[in-house]
Amino acid sequence: AEAWKVLAAGGRALDAVEKGVQVPEGDPLETSVGYGGLPDRDGRVTLDSCIMDEAANCGAVACLEHIMHPISVARRVMEKTPHVLLVGDGALQFALAQGFKKENLLTAASEKAWREWLKKAEYKPIANIENHDTIGMVALDQQQNMSGACTTSGMAYKIHGRVGDSPIIGAGLFVDNEIGAATSTGVGEEVIRICGSHLVVELMRQGNSPQEACELAVKRIVKNQPKKSREMQIGFLALSKNGAVGAYALQKGFTYALQTPEIKNQLFEAKSYYA
Ligand code: ASP
Repeated sequence: AEAWKVLAAGGRALDAVEKGVQVPEGDPLETSVGYGGLPDRDGRVTLDSCIMDEAANCGAVACLEHIMHPISVARRVMEKTPHVLLVGDGALQFALAQGFKKENLLTAASEKAWREWLKKAEYKPIANIENHDTIGMVALDQQQNMSGACTTSGMAYKIHGRVGDSPIIGAGLFVDNEIGAATSTGVGEEVIRICGSHLVVELMRQGNSPQEACELAVKRIVKNQPKKSREMQIGFLALSKNGAVGAYALQKGFTYALQTPEIKNQLFEAKSYYA
C-alpha cells in the first residue's frame, strides 16, 4: 500500500520499493525483517538489505546492526559511494555518518524467543517455513522503469556474521530494466548457489514468462539438492517489463501481495513444487 502511493502519484519505482519495504522493517511484530527481527545465536539482530534501480545502480548492506531501516542505508551506499556492498561495523559507521540513528532492534518478544531457543540451542540452519521470511519487492512505474528492494533479518539464530542471499545482487534481487525484475525468499545459501534472481531474469530474457522462469529456477534447486529440497522453503517472485507476474515456491504457503491499476493489493498464494 505504501509503495502504491508513490507509483499512483507518478513517482519512481525506486522510491516505491524503498517506502514499501520500510513498513515491515519498522514493524516490531514482524520477526524476520528489521526491528523485532529474531536475533542470531548470540542474541544480535543483524540485517541484510539491497536495492537496485532501472540503470543497474545498486547498493547493499550485510550484517548491519542497530539501524531500523537498512534498506535506506543500502540506498545511500548506492547513491553516495562508488561501492555496492558494505558489511558489519563498516556499514554501521557509514550509516551513522549518514545521520541514521543507532537503536536497539531486539524487542522483548524476540529476546524471549531467543532465550527459549537457547535452552536447547539446537543449531538447525535449515530454515523451516515458519522461522524465516524476507520481504522482497519489485515495481514498475509510470515511466516504465523498474526497481527492486529486498530486506531481512536473515535466518533466526544463525551464526554471527552469516549472510544469506537477500543483500546479494543477483541472488536475493535482480533488476534489468529491459527484461524484468526478480526477488527471492527462503534458504539463502541455496539461492546463492544458483544466483537465483539473476537466473530468473536471464530465463525471462530467453523468452520464458515470469511464471515459467520462477518455476525453472526452483526446479534447478530441486535438481541440485533433491533430498534437502523437501525440507526447506525457497520462493521466487518475478515481474516482467510488460507487467506480467510470476511466483513459485518449493513448498506450499508462499504468499505474495500484488497491486496493479486493476488489482487492489491482494494476497495470492504461489504454486509450489511440492504439494
Ligand atoms: N533468504 C533469507 C536468508 O537466507 C531468509 C528468508 O528469506 O527468510 O537470510
